Amino acid sequence: MPPTEHPIHSSEDLQQIVDDVYARAARDLGKGKVATYIPALARVPIERFGMAVATNDGYFASAGDAATPFAIQSVSKVFVLMLAMRLRGASLWNRVGREPSGNPFNSLVQLEYEKGIPRNPLINAGAHIATDCVTAGHADPKQTILDEMRRLAGNDAIDFDPEVAASERATGHRNAAIANFLKANGNLESAVDDMLDVYFHQCSIAMTCEDLARAAGFLANRGVDPRTGVRIATERKARRINALMATCGLYDAVGSFAFHVGIPAKSGVGGGMMAVVPGDMAIAVWSPGLDRQGNSYVGVRALEIFVNAIGRSVF
Ligand code: GLU
Repeated sequence: MPPTEHPIHSSEDLQQIVDDVYARAARDLGKGKVATYIPALARVPIERFGMAVATNDGYFASAGDAATPFAIQSVSKVFVLMLAMRLRGASLWNRVGREPSGNPFNSLVQLEYEKGIPRNPLINAGAHIATDCVTAGHADPKQTILDEMRRLAGNDAIDFDPEVAASERATGHRNAAIANFLKANGNLESAVDDMLDVYFHQCSIAMTCEDLARAAGFLANRGVDPRTGVRIATERKARRINALMATCGLYDAVGSFAFHVGIPAKSGVGGGMMAVVPGDMAIAVWSPGLDRQGNSYVGVRALEIFVNAIGRSVF
């Protein structure tokens, strides 16, 4: 079937589609399990569900808990990667690969076999490399990351959730092991604790679906923020980040997500997901019940129903 123009010609059209998708996906609310390995995440009610969509043409719609902040967790890896690419250019890829890992996101085994070069920047080990670049490259790296998120979302109220950051620091022994392993292999410039402090804070950033749908706009719009017209990344970098999300963005479920949904996306253990339809729009969903692979159960459903409704896929 030849690609058709997407059926959205106003915010009202978009709102109707979002309301319909929301109602259908909400039937699965309660399924999955809220992440508990970071204790502060365990207190979030499983019935929470928000969705927001921002098109490159400026249409916007949201539903449910779209204005409720949640810890973006691994969704932050995409933005910190963009900052690291900006700082280091092509040399970044001497320190981290670009292949799906086929292993859990916090695996140590693969890192040992592969001599401290993480498979990709969207698993924890690879994200530590990107965070390390930002930690070494900025006087106040936490503020740099926060400022970028505020600018991209157009919301100066975005902040770290100190309780989530502290909770993760107290229990983040696996991340500490990964970081020490990178250091032992000569693949970490900053002090381990400095990099981890930045990493735990970036994961704790509290944003809403409305914020995230806006913040992802530059990825949907060839590197230019569609809301402000400001270039955030070159067109090539935006395309490459989308390629990494499409191949590495959903833990061990990236293949079936491509099969069923077919757009670049990144998920986090807080239940947030950010997705882009390149050239068209950015979508954010949040529901904290996770499936067996660690992706939001209802979030994946909502994205699947949504892309079917608008007839879009990158494949
Ligand atoms: N802060 C989490 C961790 O490093 C992020 C994991 C995730 O969202 O995938 O364990």
